[in-house]
Amino acid sequence: MRRLRQAKIVATLGPASSSKEAIQALFDAGADVFRFNFSHGSHQDHQARCNIVREIERAAGRPIAILADLQGPKLRVGQFAEGRVTLLAGAEFTLDRDPTPGDVHRVCLPHPELFEVVDAGQSLLLDDGKLRLAVLGRGADRRSIRTRVVSGGVLSDRKGVNVPDVVLPIPALTEKDLRDLDFALDMGADWIALSFVQRPEDVLQARAIIGDRAALLSKLEKPAALDGLDAIVAVSDAIMVARGDLGVELPPERVPGVQKRILRACRQHGKPIVIATQMLESMIGAPVPTRAEASDVASAIYDGADAVMLSAESASGAYPVEAVRIMDRIIGEVEKDPLYRQMIDAQNQAPQPNSGDAICSALRDVTRIVGAVATVTYTSSGHTSLRAARERPTAPILSVTPNLSTARRLVLAWGVHSTVSQEVRNVDRMVAAACQAALEQGFAVAGDSIAITAGVPFGQPGSTNLLRIAQIWPVVPAAAA
Ligand code: PGA
Ligand code: MN
Repeated sequence: MRRLRQAKIVATLGPASSSKEAIQALFDAGADVFRFNFSHGSHQDHQARCNIVREIERAAGRPIAILADLQGPKLRVGQFAEGRVTLLAGAEFTLDRDPTPGDVHRVCLPHPELFEVVDAGQSLLLDDGKLRLAVLGRGADRRSIRTRVVSGGVLSDRKGVNVPDVVLPIPALTEKDLRDLDFALDMGADWIALSFVQRPEDVLQARAIIGDRAALLSKLEKPAALDGLDAIVAVSDAIMVARGDLGVELPPERVPGVQKRILRACRQHGKPIVIATQMLESMIGAPVPTRAEASDVASAIYDGADAVMLSAESASGAYPVEAVRIMDRIIGEVEKDPLYRQMIDAQNQAPQPNSGDAICSALRDVTRIVGAVATVTYTSSGHTSLRAARERPTAPILSVTPNLSTARRLVLAWGVHSTVSQEVRNVDRMVAAACQAALEQGFAVAGDSIAITAGVPFGQPGSTNLLRIAQIWPVVPAAAA
């Protein structure tokens, strides 16, 4: 079974999608990658979902990627004596380090680091930006921050705090993240998503712990990350435009431009990019999306995104399967549009001066010129398939690797149909195996051409140096042979 589209769908699992039937239905409707959100649910919940995904994967005979999304340093206020207060615009409100329950004048902010960096003139955003406080100054003892309420409203226990104007001196991995990371790696997650990445060092620090046990996706949701965008993309394996928190920290009118800038950077580096949050938000409670939502998903695809993501729509909404189905249909419709190909081609980036990129660039030309029905990439680390995907060839990429973990990671990438197969040792075997795979996986029929790339000698990562065009031979009936 293969999907007939190039861009991928990431579906978040949650209370609305935890049973075998529910996850199977999401997969059948088109979900390629399942996101496990470690901001919610117990390790036991995640393990149970993981077991189900792996069961579905075995039955489908096709790799499925699991993306474990760590909560990251999400800042929160403490608790209130009455559970909630109403802050009025113009009033003064103090955040301090005193753990006693708060009231209408003050509340605890249990993040000591903030008292070192937050300063007069900056803003604090509370509860996803619903309330805004202007900082008047901080106490000389660095134990309090005085503010004036700019936009008031109800503030309840443990609501989120965003500080858009500063690079916070906090690590990207909290104590909870380290425990969750340990668990996610043991569980066998293919991708680890790091939240609130601010600097390349955040990614490197996580990489030092993760090693090559999983691939690493950086969620861009802090304006500070945009200053080091290129460096962050360079050290990450993939990027997510996390528009939820990004749209709190930036005014909403800046989010579309930033999304396109991040897309451009990822296309340049050949790193998969996921566009996330509120894509089909109204489908949390309705069986059809708004026109604006359909347009948002389509635009991300026209812009060349590798994947689009569902959050609450699939995790806790009333119509998870419908949401995946609609996404699948929108992507399919865009990819049929001749304008899509024009737009994708116009964004194509020059190859880097090395043999792998030269081969992948030639692969793209050859595929178009001979009308190949598939581009077959032999890869051990996944690198060749990703560089081929960077070229956005006109035929789907049939990626072949002996490593199951590589195959699962590649599911996230644009156009990659990921398969696992035994190692090949010589070119003739490789060509025969490629033709067979193209036939078996439903890409080709007898007489079709395919374009194949590999690195010789086989099994050495980073040695892509071979391009071969092959024609699928007619199948000879066994009796005649
Ligand atoms: P979250 O990340 O759902 O983990 O907050 C996505 C976002 O902020 O857009
Ligand atoms: Mn977020």
